[in-house]
Amino acid sequence: MNKMSVDQKRKRINLYKRIIVTTILACILIPGILCVILLVRVHALEKKVEELQSLAAWKMQEDVQPEVPETASQAETEQVEEPSEVLQQAVTEEETTQADERKRVYLTFDDGPSSHTNEILDILKEYNVKATFFVVGKTDEASKAAYRRIVEEGHTLGMHSYSHVYESVYASGEEFEKDFLKLQSYLYEETGVLPVYYRFPGGSSNTISKVDMQEFISCLHKHGIEYFDWNVSNGDGMSRTPAVEVMMENVMKDIPLYEEAVVLMHDDANKHRTVEFLPTLIERLTEQDCVLLPIDDTAEPVQHIRPEE
Ligand SMILES: [Zn+2]
Repeated sequence: MNKMSVDQKRKRINLYKRIIVTTILACILIPGILCVILLVRVHALEKKVEELQSLAAWKMQEDVQPEVPETASQAETEQVEEPSEVLQQAVTEEETTQADERKRVYLTFDDGPSSHTNEILDILKEYNVKATFFVVGKTDEASKAAYRRIVEEGHTLGMHSYSHVYESVYASGEEFEKDFLKLQSYLYEETGVLPVYYRFPGGSSNTISKVDMQEFISCLHKHGIEYFDWNVSNGDGMSRTPAVEVMMENVMKDIPLYEEAVVLMHDDANKHRTVEFLPTLIERLTEQDCVLLPIDDTAEPVQHIRPEE
């Protein structure tokens, strides 16, 4: 009986020992194995995230659309948590890049505001198109309201000299700077937005200025201003505005020549045909898979005279 009891006790002790050893081993081995599995998995995910990030960065470098910056900055600031999110982002950027491949057309209106500005803005609003207005300095209430409406409705407010009087704007470097600063600060006061794009009256290739245009270009650049000429014109700058069909022909024949087309038109009280022409122009350009954009920092400046280094 005693012997049985000693055997039983030994068996029980051995059983306890086995349980203790198994428990200790389980406590060490299971977390260890789990850790190894997790480390391998995390490493694989990290590699995938890096690959997708570099792919996304490459795509963004290749071509950037004006409407993209929000997405681009999100990509820079958002933390990547799930590879599926990164993949989704890369796909979205691929779609945007495809959209970028459409021909970019910048509709620009010089010389405003005028009695036609509101009609032009109404048409642009109806078609949900943003454009650029290179304006001059006018102090009547309607013009002030027009500057504000241009800005409020998301168009680019560019400068076209305060006076548009060639003899005084181009009289000298000092006169040019005075005129440009007067317009810039005036537009800033009226709209709260500091304009940073300029179109020379008559273009940078005008033959009126006796002063070397490079002097004015340097002045603008000194103030951080970029100037834009045009590579397509509807021809409404002539004293007699052409027929709508002629303006259409003028634009559509040149659009295919450029990847980025800056179209010159005028916002002038005497150019009512330009207003008539605008809806059809927008429709034709849209049919031809053009994307109509306001000038911004992603637009490549079209310049008749290039700045000297
Ligand atoms: Zn002009």
